[in-house]
Amino acid sequence: MEIKRKIDAIIKKEFYVKRKHCHFCGKKYGLVPFTCYCGGKFWVIHRHSFAHNCSFDYKSFEREKIRIDNPIVVQDKVSNRI
Ligand SMILES: [Zn+2]
Ligand SMILES: [Zn+2]
Repeated sequence: MEIKRKIDAIIKKEFYVKRKHCHFCGKKYGLVPFTCYCGGKFWVIHRHSFAHNCSFDYKSFEREKIRIDNPIVVQDKVSNRI
């Protein structure tokens, strides 16, 4: 029982330590990680998609975002005029 508890503690500690490192370079990101759309956690230098060879499909995302945002922009212009 004692050994099992020790192993569990080591596994938990390793998991915790791994999560505290940048997914791209392995550098410690400290207290505040930056989570990317691709699901990776990075420190400040590698938080941008171009800095960590991001696998996230930004082109589709931007297209979708523009499509969703456009009606709101049109509405804003109309309400500004009034
Ligand atoms: Zn990094
Ligand atoms: Zn990413």
